[in-house]
Amino acid sequence: MRHCEVSCAIISWDSMRSMPEPERDFQRERTRMVATQIAARGVKDPRVLAAMKRVPRERFLLLEDRGLAHEDHAVAIGRGQTLSQPYMVAKMTEELCLTGSERVLEIGTGSGYQTAILAELAAEIFTVERIEELSLRARHTLEELGYRNIRFRVGDGSQGWGEFAPYERILVTAGAPELPPSLVAQLAPGGILAIPVGDERSQILTIVSKTADGRIVQSRSTLCTFVKLIGQEGWTAEK
Ligand code: SAH
Repeated sequence: MRHCEVSCAIISWDSMRSMPEPERDFQRERTRMVATQIAARGVKDPRVLAAMKRVPRERFLLLEDRGLAHEDHAVAIGRGQTLSQPYMVAKMTEELCLTGSERVLEIGTGSGYQTAILAELAAEIFTVERIEELSLRARHTLEELGYRNIRFRVGDGSQGWGEFAPYERILVTAGAPELPPSLVAQLAPGGILAIPVGDERSQILTIVSKTADGRIVQSRSTLCTFVKLIGQEGWTAEK
């Protein structure tokens, strides 16, 4: 035991990056990630912090990239898409003020990591991804981890998911040129929509609240950089 404590203490963070998976202490890396990247930058919601400590972020990455799971940046997930930086996931989730009872629409399933965080904190998640391969991989990971409160759809989420609308919360994890009218329409009275809006290089995380009588109030949260929301009410696909 004593020997283990001593040898763990002398393993540097850099050497852990190249360690094979079973030898790594991902839980420890996660706890450190939450303290140094998320709580230290001002995210306070205790439910968000606890969820970020619980969900095994490495499981949403390709095997060869799992060592990067808890680093302070986005990570590639294939097909030109990325899993967002841990802080950005936490910040966007906190902006949604989830209490546990909400139905949430997520646009941009990607790896499914943000979906898992939402599934920990809300009642039911409806998630849309335009790339089938990513949707299927995310679904497999989330089912393996035991999540049962998620519905998946492959398609253009810039137009929302009319079938189950309205939603108390909507989260878009890709950058839009402007606010997609369909998403605003599918937001329930009293609801909150968080969406990065801006040009291709940088966006502002925009928070849209719908009052009980249906008025729209917008506020600006933080600067961010997301891949493009491609679709009817987003950017045009590149040929
Ligand atoms: N939340 C994701 C981040 C994925 S990056 C995660 O935790 O991993 C954004 C994703 O949005 C990409 O997978 C991209 O394919 C998807 N996307 C872009 N435009 C979309 C659209 N119109 N509808 C649905 N998904 C879209």
